[in-house]
Amino acid sequence: MDRLLSSDNIQTFSFFVLVAVFGLLEKFRPAREINRWKDLKIDVLSFAIGVTLSRLCYPTIYNFCETHLPKDTLLIWHGVTDLPAAVKIGMALVATDFALYWVHRLQHSNAFMWRTHTWHHSIEELYWFSGFRTSFMHSFIYNIPQTIIPMFIFKLTPLEAGIGYSIGIFVQFWEHTNTDFNIGFLKYIFITPAYHRVHHSINIHNRNYGTTFSFWDRMFGTYHDPDLVPKDTKLGLGEELTPPKITRMLTGF
Ligand SMILES: [Zn+2]
Ligand SMILES: [Zn+2]
Repeated sequence: MDRLLSSDNIQTFSFFVLVAVFGLLEKFRPAREINRWKDLKIDVLSFAIGVTLSRLCYPTIYNFCETHLPKDTLLIWHGVTDLPAAVKIGMALVATDFALYWVHRLQHSNAFMWRTHTWHHSIEELYWFSGFRTSFMHSFIYNIPQTIIPMFIFKLTPLEAGIGYSIGIFVQFWEHTNTDFNIGFLKYIFITPAYHRVHHSINIHNRNYGTTFSFWDRMFGTYHDPDLVPKDTKLGLGEELTPPKITRMLTGF
């Protein structure tokens, strides 16, 4: 049973459930008319590279941290390991999202960091699969807080981490899906697909950096109301993607 509940198995199972759920939602309730076949080849390639690299990055970062980080001193509060699993996972999600907000913001304000992120912003038609378009450097940089915070600060067990990462995969689908949802007052806590679409629009890259929670943008002055952006606003970088450019963007250098 323990083997069945390994972190990798939970994530793989979640992935296929989410493919079915978001695939059907987009088919029956699309936010925009899109041609998902247009960039499918490039997105499949990008996804395969991303998954392979994540599988390589995670143990590399984990082993590095285990060898070099001082034992236990990273715990914010020693009692944290005794908290109920749901509380620990929730706290780890908020802390990781806070770190990712600033990493993402830096990607838009620093020339080196922007190079790691242009591949993600080359998406011109958003749908659930397109969100996996991330460069090697992007995956590597994001893996650092995504490994250190849950595994070394909150010391989640493999099962708890598997649940946390599955929520992360859900968010990846959710924020890029081509469907609009009205989540009522929850929009003050969580981002929505329309919220993240603003960030992918050609002229408003420097707003709505949040990955899971919307309150960071409201708190730090980078929020842009999705209702103020025309529904058919153009997405992407507004530049032609040539093969040499794609290769450079894929690596993120
Ligand atoms: Zn961005
Ligand atoms: Zn995105």
